[in-house]
Amino acid sequence: MRIVNTVDEVRNQVRRWREQGLTVGLVPTMGYLHEGHASLIAASHRENDRTVVSDFVNPMQFGPSEDLESYPRDIEHDAAVVEKNGGDMIFHPTPEEMYHKGFSSFVDMTVLTEELCGLSRPGHFRGVCTVVSKLFNIVKPDRAYFGKKDAQQLAVIRHMVDDLNMDIEIKGCPIVREADGLAKSSRNTYLSTEERKAATVLWRAVNKGTELIRGGEKDCGVIIREMSAVIDAEPLARADYIKIVDCATMQQIETLDRDALCALAVYIGKTRLIDNFFTEDI
Ligand code: AMP
Repeated sequence: MRIVNTVDEVRNQVRRWREQGLTVGLVPTMGYLHEGHASLIAASHRENDRTVVSDFVNPMQFGPSEDLESYPRDIEHDAAVVEKNGGDMIFHPTPEEMYHKGFSSFVDMTVLTEELCGLSRPGHFRGVCTVVSKLFNIVKPDRAYFGKKDAQQLAVIRHMVDDLNMDIEIKGCPIVREADGLAKSSRNTYLSTEERKAATVLWRAVNKGTELIRGGEKDCGVIIREMSAVIDAEPLARADYIKIVDCATMQQIETLDRDALCALAVYIGKTRLIDNFFTEDI
């Protein structure tokens, strides 16, 4: 398993793999890898001859008052996770390697980014689309792996690949959770002991939503109100949003009459956590 820091090193290695007729999977991450990332790496390892994991805290997808500086980093730990799960190379560039002086080209998206995290985090998906496009151009993978934990991101990437005719298969992988239901996230490390306990409220709200839908509820307003009540009952929690959107357009819907995504973002103290479920998975 190699760790490389430059675009040229990635390209040279991938070129050698291609000459041998090998297939390549890409797993884009911001590092500080946990079992959620590990599941993506393992999936890529199963489905491709070689797997590249990018490990880059992308400044472009953080807002001015967000946690870019404090975002946790540990490349040695990441190397062990990648190795253990069958990854072959980590691409760990500096911000300067990715965004050279004078960088001024961007990939952006309209409709799908108007709601949910796109609304709460202006410019976030422009940063995501730009960096993922760059990674696709650098690695030129056959397949790329994304978690359903970031459901809007997965939808946006699928849409971008379709819109821009990128010849890459996008694979969505299930959310990996802690034993008590909290979705694994690098940001969980920000939580104090008390906050960590409170953070299970996202999972409790998800369960409330899925229970109602299993019981036949189709009114999105009712589902959202009941889920909000779960969040509001937790003193350390404050909902940023709880919404139900059309899977294809990421626009809000009022009635569950098609495949939908129910997504929530909740502040636990100062830490913003996300969770979701797709109605097709219930
Ligand atoms: P991040 O490092 O947080 O940018 O995440 C990198 C990739 O891992 C994204 O595609 C995420 O959706 C995915 N991911 C993060 N957490 C989880 C999780 N708990 N389960 C599944 N995938 C995850």
